[in-house]
Amino acid sequence: MAETDLSPAPSLYLVPTPIGNLEDITLRALRMLREADYILAEDTRQTQILLRHYEISKPLLSFHTYNEHKTLAGLLERLKKGEKLALVSDAGTPGISDPGFLLVREALRNEIAIECLPGPTALIPALVNSGFPTDRFVFEGFLPHKKGRLTRLKALATESRTLVLYESPHRLLRLLEELQTHCGPQRMASVSRELTKKFEETQRGHLADLIAYFKMPNRVRGEFVVVVQGYSEN
Ligand code: SAM
Repeated sequence: MAETDLSPAPSLYLVPTPIGNLEDITLRALRMLREADYILAEDTRQTQILLRHYEISKPLLSFHTYNEHKTLAGLLERLKKGEKLALVSDAGTPGISDPGFLLVREALRNEIAIECLPGPTALIPALVNSGFPTDRFVFEGFLPHKKGRLTRLKALATESRTLVLYESPHRLLRLLEELQTHCGPQRMASVSRELTKKFEETQRGHLADLIAYFKMPNRVRGEFVVVVQGYSEN
């Protein structure tokens, strides 16, 4: 950091929240939630559970995928007036496969200072749990459901860095099967489920073995991160 920091104090804070275990929140995140004028929440009911747990009472504004364009101008006005806004998503870091990017980009275009606090996100524990190289990795989030999915899968098959993907439970098997088609049944992968929660588990193995495992009854429950070992010619 420069010795004389002339940058204005941020008025938009991105505040990561737990991905399951409510203890996974930093002291600073709690302070920012307490100090904010408003909390922008993806699902206000979900955020209220967290706020009640920490005895924080704060007005909430709804900010989610379906209203982020519509609410943008009003939020920028609030920020320009000097109101302090804290953006949270339902879980993890806002802007990571969650709303946030648009507001950050527009805030910066309007010379409004922003700050993202470090904190919980599902991709990092899944990556480290996998045992695959962590020095270089690619986070792909959710693959597109239809258009562009095949092209992406084909391109990722020869990606040499460790690959991290998010997937919903009802598409997990489809994703593993597609990865098997494009990367081959012997490619190693790791599937982390329900990170930080009661039924947390990480299964590691060849894609073919993981498919067999998750095809067994009642295995595809909860939230998943899929990590695939990078392509190697050997
Ligand atoms: N903003 C979040 C973050 O920082 O990780 C991601 C939100 S995205 C809408 C939700 C996806 O994240 C889930 O479908 C799953 O792939 C992953 N995820 C979130 N929480 C998880 C958990 N506790 N265990 C495993 N995966 C999780």
